[in-house]
Amino acid sequence: MIVEIISTGTELLLGEILNTNFQYLSQNLNKLGFDILYETTVGDNEKRMEEVLHDAMARADIIITTGGLGPTRGDITKEIVMKVCKKDSYLNPEIWRKIEAYFAKMGIAVPPNNKKQAIVPKDAEILENEAGTALGIWLECNGKTIILLPGPPAEVKDICKKRLWDMLQKKFAGQRIILSRVLHLRGIGESLTAEIIDDLILHQTNPTLAIYARCGETIIRITAKAEDSKIACNMIKNMQEKLTERLEKYIYGVDDESIADVLGRLLLHNNATIAFAESCSGGLASSLLTDIPGSSEYFLGSVVTYTNMAKNKLLKVQQATLDKFGAVSRETACEMAVGVKNLLGSDYGVSVTGNAGPGASEDKEVGLVYIAVASKEAVCCQEHRFSSNRTENKLRIAITALSLAVDEIKSKNTM
Ligand code: ATP
Repeated sequence: MIVEIISTGTELLLGEILNTNFQYLSQNLNKLGFDILYETTVGDNEKRMEEVLHDAMARADIIITTGGLGPTRGDITKEIVMKVCKKDSYLNPEIWRKIEAYFAKMGIAVPPNNKKQAIVPKDAEILENEAGTALGIWLECNGKTIILLPGPPAEVKDICKKRLWDMLQKKFAGQRIILSRVLHLRGIGESLTAEIIDDLILHQTNPTLAIYARCGETIIRITAKAEDSKIACNMIKNMQEKLTERLEKYIYGVDDESIADVLGRLLLHNNATIAFAESCSGGLASSLLTDIPGSSEYFLGSVVTYTNMAKNKLLKVQQATLDKFGAVSRETACEMAVGVKNLLGSDYGVSVTGNAGPGASEDKEVGLVYIAVASKEAVCCQEHRFSSNRTENKLRIAITALSLAVDEIKSKNTM
């Protein structure tokens, strides 16, 4: 079944708001096995809206519109659909009563314009909206299914979750479902990953494989289409096994699992604690770790030591080290990691020091960063170079610090 989503609203075309309705609808419809082949965004203009609707009806089986169901003159979706489908309308007394009750609850009289929202095309099914006054509408027209949804995302979700997904599945039963799994890899680039699994990519049909890079990591998405979720899960599992055989040492997480999740799990499992000393990452590594509920079990604290003075005073980095090697150096990173471990009494101390850019300091190149991890036995340090903008660099640096901590803990323990 080919689906086209029509997003209406001039503010979308002006870039004032992001089209999150499209993201929500397409993600969920894909999971239900529908092929979303077209998305059109159109302003609140009668002529263009009519054209868009004609195009959609010529190439899609199911057309879903969002927005333009409100009470004002600019809300024209329902009127245009009725015009194109040559549908008469009537005032639905039940809906009108609900609108009156909705406003009565808020203690205000119903604005006369809202009567427009109780006008329904003949033969249409109503999709009740418990989050607002604009109703969803389902109607059949020239062999096509047309579904009208309101604009506010909370209202779209309310209608979809409580009604639309069930109705679509019932009407289009037999539709194959689509499931995806995402593998997160680090320490390997997109092109080398593609090379290692080149034959699998070449012969892919179902499941399909997609490789892409995101924020310093490589991602492989496995997507399977099948009659039911059990079969799709098995297809994904078989492909995941093949990929793991070749890429095991690089795969660190599945689906929503982040490197911070992995680090948290490892620390919990090993009953170990961690502390951070961050300079150029400004506390971001600690922030990512504390995004995980329950991180107080293993995260003792962090110190953001931006200046040499702070590194010296709080972490006891020797002045001689700072003078001789500079703040952006292997030596300073190691002393920071040991310093924070001693300061907070943790099992592991992780430090970050470097130039996040765009300007260089100490005559060291932009993007040069040292990350160290101190444990009871030793301290290890890695040199990295990051080449994005400052914000992106900070995120990559923080993720790399978490990754290095994962590697260190793994090398000392089994899981
Ligand atoms: P209302 O009765 O609230 O006016 P409506 O069906 O007429 O509902 P619109 O007026 O088109 O909807 O949109 C209302 C608001 O919903 C917009 O101002 C915007 O904040 C949000 N919205 C609309 N379309 C989208 C979209 N595609 N993605 C995200 N938000 C949207």
